[in-house]
Amino acid sequence: MKAACWHGRKDVRVDDVPEPKILNTQDVIVQITSTAICGSDLHLYNGFIPAMEPGDVLGHEFMGEVVEVGREVKNLKIGDRVVVPFPIACGRCFNCESQMFSICENSNPNAWMAEKMYGHSPAGIFGYSHLLGGFAGGQAEYARVPYADVGPLKLPDGMTDDQALFLSDIFPTGYMGAELCDIQPGDTIAVWGCGPVGQFAIKSAFLLGAERVIAIDRFPYRLRMARDQGGAETINYEEVDVYDALMEMTGGEGPDACIDAVGMEAHGAAYAYDRAKQALMLETDRPIALRQAIMACRNGGTVSVIGVYGGFIDKFPMGSVMNRSLTIKTGQAHVQRYMRPLLERIQNGEIDPSFVITHRMRLDDAPQGYDMFLHKQDECMKVVLSP
Ligand code: NAD
Ligand code: ZN
Ligand code: ZN
Repeated sequence: MKAACWHGRKDVRVDDVPEPKILNTQDVIVQITSTAICGSDLHLYNGFIPAMEPGDVLGHEFMGEVVEVGREVKNLKIGDRVVVPFPIACGRCFNCESQMFSICENSNPNAWMAEKMYGHSPAGIFGYSHLLGGFAGGQAEYARVPYADVGPLKLPDGMTDDQALFLSDIFPTGYMGAELCDIQPGDTIAVWGCGPVGQFAIKSAFLLGAERVIAIDRFPYRLRMARDQGGAETINYEEVDVYDALMEMTGGEGPDACIDAVGMEAHGAAYAYDRAKQALMLETDRPIALRQAIMACRNGGTVSVIGVYGGFIDKFPMGSVMNRSLTIKTGQAHVQRYMRPLLERIQNGEIDPSFVITHRMRLDDAPQGYDMFLHKQDECMKVVLSP
């Protein structure tokens, strides 16, 4: 079959690879109908996530039709249309039972590797390095989906791929980012990053009762979407000082909660400093947005970190966090927890996630898709690939 494979920094190729087979009794094989490129894939593309090997199949946002079913699978049958959550979760361990699916204790066969780096292992993730399990991803014609009774969500008739695909990741992720803010009536929420994840965080903050959302980025078309589609006020961080602008907009108090939807590859004022330290392996991530989010947040407020971080950061303003009673909440999205309730919001017409799609390509064109999304060319927001 054809699959988008990682071959090194900025080197994605569409290769012929063996079709996946059922390995465990709880697996299904999904024939993929739609798959997308995520901001998290860019961290792989740019070579910032360790333990990638040439030939690894990429992709963790995908959906399709069940074409093969393992012996012990009870909830799915051949022909079902499903959307697949990006974290792989057993559904039975302590963390899964607590609905913390992205820290499943059982789904990472390479847990020892992650334990060395992180102390304990999170869940396995499709197409996201050998550190997180070495699972083949979904930017392919077929994928093997483990624990099929726990993850994949069967879709109701009539729901299109475009409406359902982002239940795999970015809609639940943005929603969790807003939920972590514990929004109270009257709250102002600031969101760093107006990529697809930021756009869903903005919409979700309003769905959860925020009065105002202030969105920060540098690309005019992304800020425009935050305003026109999301109803946010916006700040272009290349034009004004973000801290000063936020203080002015909030009567000097700062936002009640700040969402970092940027992660480890931020740009901005401190870019040269962090990029140099990154190159010298003195830090792995560039936490420019995170530092700003902490400094701007009001006393006693919450900083919700859904942008992905890979390793170690420098100049982390812990004094600000501690002395001002801030709360930091974070995590890979516990997607399985949110899929059903968010599916209902789509069915009720509260949100149509397809608003982020700007480009459609064949799987064969994945290399161009990665390049275009990385450089934000042609006002690219979200690329959907069809095998
Ligand atoms: P993206 O690359 O499209 O968007 C990132 C945006 O951040 C860009 O628009 C960029 O201009 C902006 N940005 C860069 N530096 C900034 C700064 N200093 N201040 C404000 N904005 C800045 O990516 P995306 O798909 O929206 O993903 C965003 C982040 O979310 C990534 O780190 C991704 O890995 C992460 N993510 C996390 C989860 C999770 O489960 N927690 C899931 C999906 C994605
Ligand atoms: Zn993703
Ligand atoms: Zn589990």
